[in-house]
This record gives sequence, structure tokens and C-alpha cells, in this order.
Amino acid sequence: MLASLYAHEIFHAWNVKRMRPAEMVPYRYDRPQPTALLWISEGITDYYADLAEVRSGLTTPDQFYATTTGKIEEVASAPAVALEDASLSAWVKPVDGTDDTYYPKGSLAGLLLDIMIRDASDNRRSLDTVMREMYASSWKRSRGFTNEEWWQAVSRAAGGRSFAEFEKRYVDGRDEFPWDSVLPLGGLACWWSERCCRILEYRARRMGRDVV
Ligand SMILES: [Zn+2]
Repeated sequence: MLASLYAHEIFHAWNVKRMRPAEMVPYRYDRPQPTALLWISEGITDYYADLAEVRSGLTTPDQFYATTTGKIEEVASAPAVALEDASLSAWVKPVDGTDDTYYPKGSLAGLLLDIMIRDASDNRRSLDTVMREMYASSWKRSRGFTNEEWWQAVSRAAGGRSFAEFEKRYVDGRDEFPWDSVLPLGGLACWWSERCCRILEYRARRMGRDVV
């Protein structure tokens, strides 16, 4: 738990402290700076915190899947909310149970994008590719990144595949994430029993490690 918190905050030194949405450049500490991209700043940071733990050997792949399923259950038990809306409303702290949803749901969006990019590029590129590119094209040029630039980078990493539909349904919209169609691309599957879900590798173990 503490390691997870540290991993998250340390990753912020890169994602948010440096690369961040254009709405937060320059930082203003005297007024709110709402952005529809908080799910990238917080949610994807949370995804990389989980990845950092498993990549460093601090946790096992099975623990990574357990953490991920916990996030799936957390999102499923909260009212449906679009990632962009949850991001924008962070400053008004909604009391309908959707506050903070951009953390677990944004993290899960990171996992989905990672799998889709790896699948589309035969595992040559990943969400890491996108993060490196955004870092170079925004922070390194003393500017923030826009929503359009984010999705262009995702599309490029996936060999030009369009993510317009994905963004419309799962990021701007509140459709349930397409677990059944995306997880198998990474050799994973998600089983639900009542309100609990479990992610397991169902193909070669190697595929699972490639994903993680
Ligand atoms: Zn954070």
C-alpha cells in the first residue's frame, strides 16, 4: 500500500510535474485549472505505479492482476461517469459517488490503451511510447499537451489506427469498458461472478509478462 503510494507520487515527478495538459501550463496556485485530461495525469500515473511495482519485482504479475480487478470492481460499483467529465468535475468535488473515479477508471483506460497499442504494433510499441513522445513534444518544448495531441500520439504508436471511436465511447462517453474484446489481445481474460471479477492469463504465461 505504501509502496503503491510512493510509486504513484514518484511517477508524478514526470507525469504532471513535468508533462501535463496545456490547461495547467503555467501552473497557477491561486485558482482552479480544470482539465478534461486529469484521467491521464492521475489515472495513468496510477497505472504506471502498478507497472513500476511489478516491473521492479516488488509485486508479482498475479498481484498486478488482483490490483487491476480491484479497480474494475471499484469502477463497476460507482455511478457511470465519463472520464472527461470526472476529470473536469474534480474541482467541484461531486457528491454522487463519482469523485475520484478518474483514478481507477483512468488507470484501467491506460491498461486498455497499452494492450491495444501492443496488439496493433506486434508488441514493438506500447503506452510507454506515447508517454515518451508526449514528454518530448510538450515538456521538452516548454508547453502542455492537448487532447488532440494525446490521441494522435496513441494512434501513431498503434500504427495509425484510429482511436476516435474509443475516445467517443469510453473517454468522452460512459460506455462500459470493452474488457471482453481487448483483454484477450493481451492473453488475458476477465471473469465475473456476481459483483466480483477476476483477471487471469489464459494463454501462454509469456504473453502476460509481455503485457506487464
Ligand atoms: Zn496523483
